[in-house]
Amino acid sequence: MVDYLIVGAGLFGSVFAHEAHKHGKKVLVIDRRNHIGGNVYTEKVANINVHRYGAHIFHTNNELVWRYANQFVEFNRFTNAPVANYKGEIYSMPFNMYTFNKMWNVSTPEEAKQIIESQRMEIGHEPTNLEEQAIALVGRDIYAKLIKGYTEKQWGRECRDLPAFIIKRLPVRYTYDNNYFNAKFQGIPIGGYTSLVEKLLEGIEVRLNIDYKPQTHNWRDCASKLVYTGPIDQFFQYCYGALEYRSVRFETELLDIPNFQGNAAVNYTDRETPWTRIIEHKWFEFGRDESGNEIPQTIISKEYSAEWKPGDEPFYPVNDETNEEIYRKYEQLALSEPDVIFGGRLGKYKYYDMDQVIAEALKLAEEELT
Ligand code: UDP
Repeated sequence: MVDYLIVGAGLFGSVFAHEAHKHGKKVLVIDRRNHIGGNVYTEKVANINVHRYGAHIFHTNNELVWRYANQFVEFNRFTNAPVANYKGEIYSMPFNMYTFNKMWNVSTPEEAKQIIESQRMEIGHEPTNLEEQAIALVGRDIYAKLIKGYTEKQWGRECRDLPAFIIKRLPVRYTYDNNYFNAKFQGIPIGGYTSLVEKLLEGIEVRLNIDYKPQTHNWRDCASKLVYTGPIDQFFQYCYGALEYRSVRFETELLDIPNFQGNAAVNYTDRETPWTRIIEHKWFEFGRDESGNEIPQTIISKEYSAEWKPGDEPFYPVNDETNEEIYRKYEQLALSEPDVIFGGRLGKYKYYDMDQVIAEALKLAEEELT
């Protein structure tokens, strides 16, 4: 018997496991995959840490979370500054003076503001969906070239049918500043995210390749409590219907050239290009290996976004009204399971960033263990 059976060795499960272990609890972590780390998993190929499940750039304003993560690994000084490629035209992201200069050939904040003000007037009320929110933030020109196509590929839905909060993740600045995040702390673990998760799980029993199925596994046979980080609808055997998720497929290639695109992330914002972005992994670590030598090859991953179907990996919850309504029912049902803790993006059906996942795991661990 263990005190906690933890289903899922991703960030939520690993932070919770670490805290429980620290408090002297007996913990068992299981995962369906053949590796730890969930979607933050990185794998070294040709001396490059490959972000197997897409780009993960740690960023936070939460000093406690930053200090917590830094106990386990050192972070590099990577700053996310993706580039957008619209039919071959290159724009700086997020939306800032470099973007406005390229879009309208303006050079001062005043000129950029004037254009945006005149375009955003078309939305005369509180935005109710992503399209209105985007136009209200940056105007129609930018919406048309840098948002609409990308968003519709990423989510497989019209911008009008998506919640406004998704686009509010992106900063809009009237300064020449390409830093994608408005975060006090930012970086990537030196040696990759897998080493962070390995450290979190040090001294804890982890069993891989175990696909926990709520209908066949009775966790009460082996644990006092369950921490479940898989999809909440799956846990309750889809009794209120299936929640929708977006999945991502990666086409990864090792190339015999040192530099493919000159940046870690290039977003393809037109509707015609079938992939949403290309990640060139070496640039997360400045193109150098552990000893500081330049890496002669490169690895790129093209990301294709798709609706999740059984057998795929769920990546993003689709937090539109229909799904939110279904989720609220599951959330209510979860209250009838006081010995089960639901956590992480899938357990909570929330578009969490890594720092929010860590903060949530620490909060729940504190409530649970002290
Ligand atoms: N987005 C966009 N154009 C871009 C990048 C992002 O329209 O070039 C929109 C898109 O709707 C996306 C949202 O902003 O879903 C959030 O982007 P973020 O980079 O935060 O997404 P993630 O990295 O989590 O996939």
